[in-house]
Amino acid sequence: MPDHQSPPVTVLGLGAMGGALAAATVAAGHATTVWNRTPGRADALVAAGASEAPSVRDAVAASPLVVAVLLDRASVHETLDPVVDALAGRTLVNLVTTTPEESRELAAWATSHGIDYLDGGIMAVPAMIGGPGSEVLYSGSRAAFDAARPVLDTWGESTWFGEDPGLAPLYDLALLAGMYAMFAGFFHGAAMVGTAGVSAADFARRAAPWLVAMTSGLAEYADVIDRRDYAGPGQQSLEFSDLSDIIGASEEAGLATDVVAAVQGLIRRQVDAGHGADGFARTVESIRGGTTPTDSTPTVTTPTVTAGGTR
Ligand code: NDP
Repeated sequence: MPDHQSPPVTVLGLGAMGGALAAATVAAGHATTVWNRTPGRADALVAAGASEAPSVRDAVAASPLVVAVLLDRASVHETLDPVVDALAGRTLVNLVTTTPEESRELAAWATSHGIDYLDGGIMAVPAMIGGPGSEVLYSGSRAAFDAARPVLDTWGESTWFGEDPGLAPLYDLALLAGMYAMFAGFFHGAAMVGTAGVSAADFARRAAPWLVAMTSGLAEYADVIDRRDYAGPGQQSLEFSDLSDIIGASEEAGLATDVVAAVQGLIRRQVDAGHGADGFARTVESIRGGTTPTDSTPTVTTPTVTAGGTR
C-alpha cells in the first residue's frame, strides 16, 4: 500500500545540491532512489538508507515523483529524453536553474509526453536545505505541487506561484538580480574604504545594518513603480541621486567604477530625456528600455500572480 505520509522519491543528480536534497528526504523517511551520471557519489546516501539505481531508467521507474537536480536545461534533456517513455504518468520536478523560457520549454516537452511538470527555484545553498531559512519556489502543475508536498516540505518552505512554469524561475532570478547587485555594491564600498586601510570586516559591520535599514524604502519605491507616478511628492529626485561624487571618489582612489557607473548610466538616461526632477525610482524605466512611461511596459494595476505566491 502506498505510504501517503512518506511517498517515495527519485533524485537525479548528486552534486552539492542534489546530494543535500536527497539526504533530507532520506532523513525524513521517504524511500529515496538516487542516480548520478558519474558513479561513486552515492555512497554516503546509500549508507544513510537511499537506494542507488544502476541506470536513469531504473531510477525513473522507482518512484512516481522524479526530481532533477542536474546542471542546466541541456543536461535535463540529455538525461531524460532517452527515458521519456518511462517518465510518462509520473511527476517531474525540475530544480535545475533555468530561465523562464527554458522552464516553459521543459514543461511543454513534459506535458506532450504525459508527464506532470513542476518547476522549482531553490532559494538556499546546500548547507541550508531542510533547515531554517530554506525556501523553494515552485510553478507549474498545482496538482503535482499538492501531491508532492510531503517530499517538497522536507527541503524548506514550499511556495507555489502559479500554473505558468516560468514564474518560479522568474522570481528566483529576479531575487538573485537584487542580491548580486547588492553584493557588488558592498564589494565596491569595501574596496573604497580599503584604500584608507579599513578592513572589509570593519566595513561589513557598518554596511549590514545600513543596508537593512535601506530596505525599508523598498515598499515605497514599489508603490511608485506600480503606479508609475515618478513625479509624486516626497521622492528623491534623479538629479539629487547623481552618483558623480561616488564615481569621482572611486577614480581618485584608483578603483574601477563599473558598479556605480552602471547605476549612474541608468539615472543619466532619464535625466537626459528631461526627467531629472522625477524620483529615483524612475531608473526602472531605463532598465525597461525606455525613457517615458508610455514607451515601455504597461502600468501594473492588478497583480498578475498572487502576491508572494501561495504556500
Ligand atoms: P554541481 O556542479 O555540484 O552538480 C552538478 C550535477 O549535475 C552533478 O550531479 C553532475 O553529475 C550533474 N550533471 C552535469 N551535467 C550533466 C549531464 N550532461 N548529464 C547528467 N548529469 C549531469 O551543481 P549543484 O548540485 O550545486 O547544482 C545543481 C543545480 O541546482 C544547478 O542547476 C544549480 O544552478 C541549482 N542550484 C544550486 C544551488 C547551490 O547553492 N549549489 C542553489 C540553487 C540552485 P556528475 O557528477 O556526473 O558531473
